Amino acid sequence: MEKTGAWDRLGAEPPPAFPGAILNVTNRCNLKCAHCFIYTDGNPNDPTHDIPDDELLAAVERVRDRHGVRGMLWMGGEPMLRWRLLERGLELFAKNTITTNGTVPLKDFGPDVTYVVSLDGPRDVNDPVRGEGVYDRVRQNLLALPENFAPTVQLQCVVTKQNQHRLAELVESFVDTPVDGIAFTFYVPNEGENSERTWTDAADREAAVDAVVELKRRYPDFVWNSSRALELMRPATAKLVTDNCPTLRTILPLYVENGQFTTPKCCYGNNSDCDRCGAWVVFAQAAKLPGPWDEVLPPTKHKSRGAADFEAGMAEPLRRE
Ligand code: SF4
Ligand code: SF4
Repeated sequence: MEKTGAWDRLGAEPPPAFPGAILNVTNRCNLKCAHCFIYTDGNPNDPTHDIPDDELLAAVERVRDRHGVRGMLWMGGEPMLRWRLLERGLELFAKNTITTNGTVPLKDFGPDVTYVVSLDGPRDVNDPVRGEGVYDRVRQNLLALPENFAPTVQLQCVVTKQNQHRLAELVESFVDTPVDGIAFTFYVPNEGENSERTWTDAADREAAVDAVVELKRRYPDFVWNSSRALELMRPATAKLVTDNCPTLRTILPLYVENGQFTTPKCCYGNNSDCDRCGAWVVFAQAAKLPGPWDEVLPPTKHKSRGAADFEAGMAEPLRRE
């Protein structure tokens, strides 16, 4: 379906306001995951394509002031490969999230920062996708965090048709560690995609939603998906949410192309299939906002874990990893 308010946002007058933005600070990465769209879509994995720090930060500041951005999600590639840039960039926003593959040691950037660390499942599920030894490296890094480490550390697992039966093992192996919680985000395919990772529609996805609902029941504090957000993913409401995607109005995705910012349809690119979108951020925001889905699933007084207010919703993870 046609989505509005996305492609032309950077030049629009008056400039639309966005509480949050996401920025790809580099295409470089120390991993080469099988499913990576950053790495495989012809993006050069080459440091010479990075915009120099001063130039990039000045551009970020201009976008922040033009669009009233209050929170930034820093992503890549692997953004921690440019941690000196991040250190300065974090000063520009009240809230910051860094999405990382977790193989690079995390730096203590203070309590207003959230790290989102990607894992796809237990070792034998994760490593065939992300690389041999990656699960153990990530786990070692997370277990080695000092007790007084100030940032929030959250795992993110992309649920697919392939790993939907192995999610409990991942939760069980991190629930008693320094990790603060986990969010499950459901794979967002491109239009026409029919891979082994995807479901055909929201009905086909229900067993995977049920698996996360059960984990939420067993680990209500550790699993950060809200119950309402999960219920909204069911067939009766999923399309009502994605047809009225809240993140199009709240999050400005910034790609760097030929030395300047461009903005795709959404943070999943221009070709993502909205009808099968299961992004956590989309449903988490819908769970907190009024919308046509309320008529089918009236809101309750339930308050979700994680970002307690809508403004903070932008700080939730967005990656398709
Ligand atoms: S999915 Fe993320 S961690 Fe994996 S290669 Fe791509 S950017 Fe790196
Ligand atoms: S976030 Fe999901 S629903 Fe929203 S525009 Fe992107 S693919 Fe579509």
